[in-house]
Amino acid sequence: VSAPALHILVVGAGFAGLAATRKLAGNKNFRITLVERTNHHLFQPLLYQVAMAGLNPSEIASPVRSILRKYPNVTSLMGEVTQIDRANRQVTLDNGEQTISYDYLVLAVGGKTSYFGKNEWEAHTLGLKTLDEALAIRQQILHSFELAERAESESERIRLMTTVLIGGGPTGVEMAGGLAELTRSVIRWDFRNIRPDQARVILLEGSDRLLSAFPEKLSKYTADRLTQMGVDVRLHTRVTDIQAGEVHIGDEVIKCATIVWAAGVGGHPLAKQLNCDLDRGGRAIITPQLHLKEDPRVYCLGDMAALTETLADGKTRALPGVAQVAMQQGALAAKNIVLAANNKELLTFKYWDKGSMATIGRSSAIASTAYANLTGFPAWMAWLFIHLIYIVDFQNQLLVLSRWAWSYFTWKWGARLITRVPKIDATLKANSNEGSPTDLSATEKTESSGNPSSGD
Ligand SMILES: Cc1cc2nc3c(=O)[nH]c(=O)nc-3n(C[C@H](O)[C@H](O)[C@H](O)COP(=O)(O)OP(=O)(O)OC[C@H]3O[C@@H](n4cnc5c(N)ncnc54)[C@H](O)[C@@H]3O)c2cc1C
Repeated sequence: VSAPALHILVVGAGFAGLAATRKLAGNKNFRITLVERTNHHLFQPLLYQVAMAGLNPSEIASPVRSILRKYPNVTSLMGEVTQIDRANRQVTLDNGEQTISYDYLVLAVGGKTSYFGKNEWEAHTLGLKTLDEALAIRQQILHSFELAERAESESERIRLMTTVLIGGGPTGVEMAGGLAELTRSVIRWDFRNIRPDQARVILLEGSDRLLSAFPEKLSKYTADRLTQMGVDVRLHTRVTDIQAGEVHIGDEVIKCATIVWAAGVGGHPLAKQLNCDLDRGGRAIITPQLHLKEDPRVYCLGDMAALTETLADGKTRALPGVAQVAMQQGALAAKNIVLAANNKELLTFKYWDKGSMATIGRSSAIASTAYANLTGFPAWMAWLFIHLIYIVDFQNQLLVLSRWAWSYFTWKWGARLITRVPKIDATLKANSNEGSPTDLSATEKTESSGNPSSGD
């Protein structure tokens, strides 16, 4: 009688979870269950294009079930893991409705937007980590322009056409470039009472440069390019407070319709349940073999995990929260589980850094690799190519390629529907009725009674 197959439970169908699952699926001695709280794998690097109405949600997300269709030993479950019990080797789904036992647990649940302790700012800002959030930004911005078209005072028109982006990392930069193009080119001729090309896009960064993970020359190129595109780039600028429709920088108050928070990512709340060491950002500290020091049967991968590597020159660095790290960790975790199951020595994770890139706008991007730094059109072409090949399904690769080509030649971005009343307008309305600057309960009420999120 053969031994029962080992049960590997993978949580999260992001870059790390999917890479681990696919690799494990080749091993017939394993039974694999993948639990994901949504029903899709999301290609986060193109999320900003959904927010900027350049792409539709379905073009950057694929159903997990269809991705895993060809693996008979993989079961996909939609559900949210809410508790982890390491002692009894089981997790709980959806607050106690179901428990699942495991032999090995692979946690790959990503990170969470961090407000650096200012959690009250969340109510007045929009983040960009999920499809719902991207759609909320898109609808918020488009709706603000609709309101501006019928605004009765100049000050209100200016406020409605002002967007503040907080955080000069890749997300803030890509959003700023995308928004500058949307307003200055795509919707420029669509209104009669306002001039969208006069919309204010303000990008705030606390440090002395944008994209601090890139070489300084590329940061400077990015800031200059954004400024040419009409973005108000402000370095050395720390936000001191955020209220409904207001960003405070010391004594200066910027009145705006949309505030996007792109300033920080922290660990996932599940990491706290592991009873393991966490780094300052709340990420689970893992061994170079990718499991918890406290438990060799629990692997933590990608954005939820903290791992420091030693470079060739002896210096150490924390691995960045990027898709390449997550995918490579997923593949190695799978190998190590096979080795562990066979009582063999585990492999050590070595990050193969293939370089990083960020797009600024049409025909403009930056790329930094071990061999060369690129800017402008060549970097943009490289960016397009790399992003296309990493989209998981072929149909979406074709859809994205054709939409990019259409947008490039026509300047028409098709995904510009408003299908629900956005969150922050509701906040402002509630406040202006009641005359109080921050009334979070009003926001929550409006949100929960709002329409469900739209698809395409
Ligand atoms: C806007 C944006 C742009 C980015 N651009 C780039 C880029 O250009 N290049 C790059 O390399 N990186 C980029 N990143 C970072 C990159 O996307 C992440 O590093 C990568 O997604 C991390 O992979 P992961 O598998 O750890 O987590 P994720 O990809 O976030 O996946 C985690 C999954 O877990 C699921 N999940 C969460 N909690 C639970 C739960 N309790 N139960 C069940 N399922 C759960 C989530 O729904 C999600 O599907 C970007 C990130 C964002 C947000």
